[in-house]
Amino acid sequence: MTESAEHIIVVAPLGDLQPALVDRICKEITRIFNFQTRIEPVLQDVSFAYDANRDQYHSTTILEKLAALSPPDSLKVLAVVQVDLFIPILTHVYGEAQLGGKSSVISISRLSEGISKMGIDETFGDRVAKEAIHELGHTFNLRHCKDANCIMHYCRNEHDVDRKSDQLCRYCRIMLGDEVKRLGHGA
Ligand SMILES: [Zn+2]
Ligand SMILES: [Zn+2]
Repeated sequence: MTESAEHIIVVAPLGDLQPALVDRICKEITRIFNFQTRIEPVLQDVSFAYDANRDQYHSTTILEKLAALSPPDSLKVLAVVQVDLFIPILTHVYGEAQLGGKSSVISISRLSEGISKMGIDETFGDRVAKEAIHELGHTFNLRHCKDANCIMHYCRNEHDVDRKSDQLCRYCRIMLGDEVKRLGHGA
């Protein structure tokens, strides 16, 4: 079987992100999806998505731009931004993704909420990693999962994020395997 030309998951950091945090995201992606990653700043800025009325950034607009600019060898692209994201029906989102599509985005802006200084690195890193996997999961056609432990469970607040595990449930893992095969990868 010849491998598809699109075989890399590109992580596109934007802003002043800790390198250790970006590395952590890459490691988690490979652990869950079994694809190689590459760090590449696909977006230089997201001012095109700024909404002055809300003083936030429209995540759907970012996804479109990200898909248009995605590198040719990328299977999926995940942007990691610091600015606060929204979609019109919600006050904010931790991230958004194109279901079964190419691009996804997460914001770290609200993921440090409720963390005491002492616990910041570990809990914050865990949350960012979980939300990164969650949004990328949507690009692999995974929908929200009823299992509150599953990484594809929809989280309304940071407590929900902390409560869920960093794993896909058995059901979602099977769905992911099928999708990866459909894309022409994997055994
Ligand atoms: Zn979701
Ligand atoms: Zn699940």
